[in-house]
Amino acid sequence: MQEFVTNAFVLGRRVRGELDLTVDLYTAYMGRIEGRVISGQKISSRFSPHLNVPNLVTLRMVEKNTLTVTDALTVSEFSWIKNDVPMLRSILRIFFLLRVATPPHAPDEVLWRCLVESMHTHTVDIKEILKILGHNILSASCAVCKSISVHYFEYGDGIFFCETCGSKQTSDKVVLIT
Ligand SMILES: [Zn+2]
Repeated sequence: MQEFVTNAFVLGRRVRGELDLTVDLYTAYMGRIEGRVISGQKISSRFSPHLNVPNLVTLRMVEKNTLTVTDALTVSEFSWIKNDVPMLRSILRIFFLLRVATPPHAPDEVLWRCLVESMHTHTVDIKEILKILGHNILSASCAVCKSISVHYFEYGDGIFFCETCGSKQTSDKVVLIT
């Protein structure tokens, strides 16, 4: 059993069984990981209130078959976001993309530093995040009509769509990026 402490962004949280939670986390040294929170659904859970999207938290975890959160403390809940609805929507899309489109246990120092800096300086930009993930919007064009004005990203195939073609897509893997 190995114990460690790490900072992490909370990308998402899901119900796990009767009482537990699974939290999706993006960390500096391990990239994206999942953590189990035992009895995290209980109102009395001491650290479940810290594990909300898009908080930056300091976690203590133990690894024994699965990663289990044994302590959590909020570093920042980025309260400025709550007064900026367009930015909040953009950050929720970014955190969703990180959750579904980054490989687990693949640390990316550039991505981590970009997240920390832009979340603290209120300059989070989904285009910048996509570029770090290898999808440069500046050289992108719509996969259907070849327009260079792209508004949507499909994370399954890593392709872009313009506003018109993107709005016609039925895949649930299409994310608005403007
Ligand atoms: Zn198009």
